[in-house]
Amino acid sequence: MDDSDHGSIIDLSRYEDREHLLLASYATHSRDSLGRVVPETGHSYRGPYARDRDRILHSSAFRRLSGKMQVFTGEMGIYHRTRLTHTFEVASVARTIARALKLNEDLTEALALMHDIGHPPYGHCGEDVLDECMSSEGGFSHNQFALVIVQELENRYPEFSGLNLCHETLAGQDTRANKEAAAVGRSPNLEVQLVDAADSIAYDAHDVDDALQLGLLSIEDLAQLAIVRRAVEKIQQSHGSIPPQQMRQSLVHELIDAQVSDLLETSTQLLTSHLGKSSEEISQLGLRLHHSETTAAERRELESFLFDSVYRHERLLPVRDAAANRLLVLYDKLIAKPERLPLRFRQRCNVLSKSRVVGEYLAGMTDSFCDYQFKQITSLSAGPLADW
Ligand code: MG
Repeated sequence: MDDSDHGSIIDLSRYEDREHLLLASYATHSRDSLGRVVPETGHSYRGPYARDRDRILHSSAFRRLSGKMQVFTGEMGIYHRTRLTHTFEVASVARTIARALKLNEDLTEALALMHDIGHPPYGHCGEDVLDECMSSEGGFSHNQFALVIVQELENRYPEFSGLNLCHETLAGQDTRANKEAAAVGRSPNLEVQLVDAADSIAYDAHDVDDALQLGLLSIEDLAQLAIVRRAVEKIQQSHGSIPPQQMRQSLVHELIDAQVSDLLETSTQLLTSHLGKSSEEISQLGLRLHHSETTAAERRELESFLFDSVYRHERLLPVRDAAANRLLVLYDKLIAKPERLPLRFRQRCNVLSKSRVVGEYLAGMTDSFCDYQFKQITSLSAGPLADW
């Protein structure tokens, strides 16, 4: 490799050299990072975004994702996704897209691993309860809470509170938390956009898989959707008639593959006319990655079907209502008796409203931890509840 344009010998063990060689001009390059709130010395072999990824991976909030439901609860079996396995699926799809578009994989992975760590227990029903409880305080958003976790609540390092992540990693999550503000003018970095796309590609496909496995849907129900019909035809052309279980799993693969391929095709076309531009220039232009019109319409059809047929399925509603009630009772009892909050959260009441602090404490819980604290607070026990 000619090193004349780099001023020194190219060394692929150096992340700066790897990025220089492998990434597109419009990728987010570590050399352009605006750094961290508390300045730190660079690491000898990990780039700043790889360090962010590792800090998120080692956080306790990340581990708690294993105990948080995505759509289906533990009472419904052990096949379906938790928020942790969903997160790994998002990271896998996102890395594939990032590599194909020559974007920054380390930043992409950091953003993907962080994207759901602010989710409360009990899936979206948990978020709805907290949002309602905290409505006079501006409501609750899991995307916003992820920022509170990584900036304030994770305490692993003696030098700073939170994880002291790079500006670009925090800005990416902030875009998710403040979508309306972000929609004006500038577009988010391409890595942020592709994680968003990977998130919805992953959950649409795995919710189809989980719902089929749980018997909430049949392939015949789904075959009314164009995107599913085409995937089934493709599988049958390659393999003929196959057993239902294999069809289900092949369908997940086909759905992901078709949507990722479509996104890559439109994105490559879009970016070809912007070769040489920087990440900042792309953001200023307001450029947005998108699916083709056909795939976008088919995705809307799939999501609307899932919303009506799966997320509001009669087997889910009683479980969801009971979970919502437990969270509501815990919220009301802790508002009435904040002395039962763990010490760290009682101290936060000095700087934040009681409602916000109680909401944060509840939002950090796993499903089973929340179940246990509900039993504690509705029993004769006294004293503070456990910290997570
Ligand atoms: Mg997600």
